[in-house]
Amino acid sequence: MKISKSYSRLGTESAFVILSKAQKLVSEGKEIINLGIGQPDFKTPDHIISACKKALDDGHHGYTEPNGVLELRKGVSRYIHKHYKAQVNASRILITPGGKPTIFFTMMLLGEPGYEIIYPEPGFPIYESMINYSGAKPVPMFLKEQNDFSFKADEVLKLIKKNTKLIIINNPQNPTGALIDENEIKKLVQGLKKYPDVCILSDEIYSRQIYDGKKMPTFLNYPEIYERLIVLDGWSKSYAMTGWRLGWSVWPDKLIEKVTRLAINSYSCVPAANQIAALAALEGSDEFINNMMNEFSKRRKLIVNGLNNLKGIKCNNPGGAFYVFPNVINSGLNGEQFSQKCLDEAGVAIVPGTSFGKSCVNYVRFSYANSYENIEKALEKIAKII
Ligand code: PLP
Repeated sequence: MKISKSYSRLGTESAFVILSKAQKLVSEGKEIINLGIGQPDFKTPDHIISACKKALDDGHHGYTEPNGVLELRKGVSRYIHKHYKAQVNASRILITPGGKPTIFFTMMLLGEPGYEIIYPEPGFPIYESMINYSGAKPVPMFLKEQNDFSFKADEVLKLIKKNTKLIIINNPQNPTGALIDENEIKKLVQGLKKYPDVCILSDEIYSRQIYDGKKMPTFLNYPEIYERLIVLDGWSKSYAMTGWRLGWSVWPDKLIEKVTRLAINSYSCVPAANQIAALAALEGSDEFINNMMNEFSKRRKLIVNGLNNLKGIKCNNPGGAFYVFPNVINSGLNGEQFSQKCLDEAGVAIVPGTSFGKSCVNYVRFSYANSYENIEKALEKIAKII
């Protein structure tokens, strides 16, 4: 069988490989603390589960509109208005099975040989993978530890060439947890006025995981770029619903019909009952998110201090998400060696930095989506082996 050339360019997300490895070790009777996977360790709130059960009992078993049921899209529009005071018509919203299809569809629509796409490194591995798959040239925007893994708008603008099609921004950021300042987003939008053909994909999947009382610096606050802005968000991280596969995205008027055609060609629609549960999530109280963030704040302090107390490890204090991306090179091991040793000798699963970009040799990613007690235990175990 001759597999297509484009497939051979496709990458993967190694956090899933690590999850399988960790699960295998657990099934063999080993005690493993998983700080590898990026999903909240909380149960989906009961009122969301009840809404889904009721929807199934009420007979919501069939196909829905491919772009998502109108009530839910209106609900997302109200949510955007409530949180950002932005006006986005329900007609520009697409409901997707998780956030990932938005990345896939963006590349299907915009990526092609002869064009360049700027993406963050370190960054979510699916960006580079999908850019390569589309045939476009991936151009990394390097996020540096000394800048708290943030970027300056000027540096991003300098990367733009005649054939730049798209810039991908992820804020708050995976894998570093960095929260890019509102000012830099504003400057970037200003600077992009000179480049009217360059589109933006803003991945805001961690929009509800922000610390220290700060506000989410969303691109949705800039209507002047709406005709070339795609925003990715969803329920996975905000409401602990990763396995429900529920995402939403906002598209330019010109692209919404085209992207809906991609939905029709791939998954037809998101399960009907899940869409009803998704509306219940948006319309329910924020108590769950507030409690989750109180817990994440405590863990962030624990893990940042704990890692900085280990010899040879340097860890920044991130402003969002639930990841830290420490530099481990002064421990005498690079990121790959360090994460392998953690798994083999301490029974702690983490992800090597190179999973998020070739340049990230000195780093590893810890997810603190695990209990306070487990994080404490993991830190003790790691202290013993380094
Ligand atoms: N974007 C980023 C930056 C992520 O970290 C993830 C998941 O880890 C996604 C998108 C995909 O989210 P979902 O599970 O909703 O597809």
